[in-house]
Amino acid sequence: MIFKFRLPGYVLAAAAVFVPSICAQQDPRAVQTPGPQISVDGYTYTQRALFQRNIGGPDDMTTPFPPHKIIGNIYYVGARSLASFLVVTPQGNILINSAYERNIPLILKSVEQLGFKLSDTKILLGSHAHADHQEGDALFKQLTGAQVMAMAEDVPALENMKPGGKPHPIDKVLHDGDEVTLGGSTLVAHLTPGHTRGCTTWTMKVEEAGKTYNVVIICSLGVNPGFKLVNNADVPQIADEFTRAFETMRSLPCDVPLGSHPGMYNMEEKYAKLEKGGPNPFIDPVGYKTEIDIDEAMFHAVLDQQRKAASGNAGSPDATH
Ligand SMILES: [Zn+2]
Repeated sequence: MIFKFRLPGYVLAAAAVFVPSICAQQDPRAVQTPGPQISVDGYTYTQRALFQRNIGGPDDMTTPFPPHKIIGNIYYVGARSLASFLVVTPQGNILINSAYERNIPLILKSVEQLGFKLSDTKILLGSHAHADHQEGDALFKQLTGAQVMAMAEDVPALENMKPGGKPHPIDKVLHDGDEVTLGGSTLVAHLTPGHTRGCTTWTMKVEEAGKTYNVVIICSLGVNPGFKLVNNADVPQIADEFTRAFETMRSLPCDVPLGSHPGMYNMEEKYAKLEKGGPNPFIDPVGYKTEIDIDEAMFHAVLDQQRKAASGNAGSPDATH
């Protein structure tokens, strides 16, 4: 059997395993082991490989990617492995994911390269309360005055995110199914918990060439290396929360999958096609389902492994009392 690894070249080329301070809470030692392996559509992934696919190599989170129009009024203004999206409306713009504080100059430059102004950002949203997606919220609000809105279940984690001692701004607390509307565009906040308690998948309808498309910005369905699905002291029901997220994700209509890390939707490959013209490569309903299949298979593989390890311990003579 031939295993194919669907990973960008820069990830495969990375000789050293890069342990970032993000998508945090994992034990850095856990990243050194490949973890369980799954196969979907003839491609094979280990837990570590999927994590690496998302975060890229050491510089990919802070290296700009060419800003581009995705579809309708949604634009990419992020880094190679950290996505930031700009929704442009006649009444101002919405940014999704301020990323790290150090990414804000990169976002500013990308927004300006596209001919827009960062100061026109009226609303700041985020994928989830990890530093690589939302550490920059306080600085971004200082720069633009944008209203920061966050899912209720992520508020405690966001309040603990204080770069340079700055309190995390939260102007409006959102709940599952809440709508955020500006200038004729509406984003719907879907609670897809597990990766964080308030992990938020955003959906939006866009128009292009007289057609309407459903866009889904995947929060994350990833189980990071070292993350405890079993015997998780902070959230004992964490596996149930992940299960709920998969159900919600499968219920969402999707023509255009996007995600908090571009690897979730093969951005590089699609961007290369965009340059060549032809049909919009970001329209990829099959890719959406495949991404959920990959993440769900990995979730079950990790859960099985951790359950076996836990029951192995429970079954030992010393652990019965
Ligand atoms: Zn994360």
